Amino acid sequence: MADIDIPALKEILWHKMHGDLKSLVPWFTSHEQILCPVCFRPLRYDDFSLEHIIPRQAVADDPEEVRAAIPRNERSGMTLLCRKPLLINQKIMYNNGCNSWKGKYFDPLLKDVFKPGLWTRPFTSQHHVALFCAGYLGLVRKFGYQIALMPSGLLMRNQFFNPQKFVKEFPISSQVVFTGDATVEYSEDTRDFWSDPFRFSVGEGVAVTILRNLVLPIPISRDPTSPLARVLPYAPSRFKLRPDLRTAFD
Ligand SMILES: [Zn+2]
Repeated sequence: MADIDIPALKEILWHKMHGDLKSLVPWFTSHEQILCPVCFRPLRYDDFSLEHIIPRQAVADDPEEVRAAIPRNERSGMTLLCRKPLLINQKIMYNNGCNSWKGKYFDPLLKDVFKPGLWTRPFTSQHHVALFCAGYLGLVRKFGYQIALMPSGLLMRNQFFNPQKFVKEFPISSQVVFTGDATVEYSEDTRDFWSDPFRFSVGEGVAVTILRNLVLPIPISRDPTSPLARVLPYAPSRFKLRPDLRTAFD
């Protein structure tokens, strides 16, 4: 099934994210920029590209009836990530920003995780981190920038740039993934499983994130569904090429 028009989708996501960010951080009301949800650099529309949270190469493995019935973008879950060159550890340059960082470090592992059939391959800490970073992007997509702006958001953004293993601040209690049998067929009853890949259940200090047949307990500093003081001070970092790893909510 054809995806909806890609330029239109990018604009829809841009306006949604800009509106959400303006409501939290008034500085953005007079600036046609948004923060990249991972590196937090304030960037313009052209510096972003569409990101398939479950990568295209992973949903390409979905059963034929599923691919015929549900557009790829819906099965992936879409957001925006930056594509502007990114400086990490003083010297490594990622010419396409966070988008290409995710493509390099996480997308092949996510394809591996969602591969159909029995799980007979090694499940490494890199798989684990890739899933949590995908879950973080799903949380931002669902609940907006407040997820990124709280301390747990800073933790997840740091984790994104440490793809090999969990950072030491990552709670041990969250370093676990639960799994059930994956749905293998398509019918009206299983349509929900194949469409939006994310479901969330927010509890004390944790957003239980259901990503298809996987369950990830992602740490979270506050319940994003409860009311919030919505005016935060913000000034852009003077460093244009580095991730801005600061937080706004204590
Ligand atoms: Zn970025």
